[in-house]
Amino acid sequence: MDKLSQARRSENMRRIKSLNTSPEISVRRLIFGMGYRFRLHSKALPGRPDLVFPGRRAVIFVHGCFWHQHTKCNEGRIPSSRPEYWAPKLAGNVARDTTRKDELRQLGWRVMVIWECEVMSPKTAAKIKRFLGKPGPNQPSAKAKKLLK
Ligand SMILES: [Zn+2]
Repeated sequence: MDKLSQARRSENMRRIKSLNTSPEISVRRLIFGMGYRFRLHSKALPGRPDLVFPGRRAVIFVHGCFWHQHTKCNEGRIPSSRPEYWAPKLAGNVARDTTRKDELRQLGWRVMVIWECEVMSPKTAAKIKRFLGKPGPNQPSAKAKKLLK
C-alpha cells in the first residue's frame, strides 16, 4: 500500500471510530438487550442523535465526558496545558450541544444524554427505562435483566 492510500485508510478508520465509539456501542447493546429498537445517527435531526426512537419521539446522545465537558466528573475539566486552546474549543462544544438539544425539543423530541462514565452503571439502565417507557414485545436479554434488578 502506498503512503497516500495508507493515510486515507487511517483517516477512514478515525472517522469510523468517531462514529462508533465504544461507550456508544455499549449503550446500543444495553438498550437493544432491554428490548428497545432504534435508529442510528439520524441525519434528519439536529445534532445527529446517536440513538433515535421515532415511535417514542425520543433521542439519546452518548457523550464523551471530556469532549462534551461532563461537569460532574473529573474528565470534564479543561486541561491545564494549553488552556487557551482548549477552553474556547470545549466551550464551543457545550454551547453547540445546548443549541441542538433546544432545537430537538422545539421539534417535539424528548432528549436524554448518557455520559461515557455512566454507561455501565445499573442506575443508567433504570433511567433509560423511565425515559423510554415500556419496551416493545421484544424480551430483554438476561444481561439487561440483571442490570435492571
Ligand atoms: Zn463523566
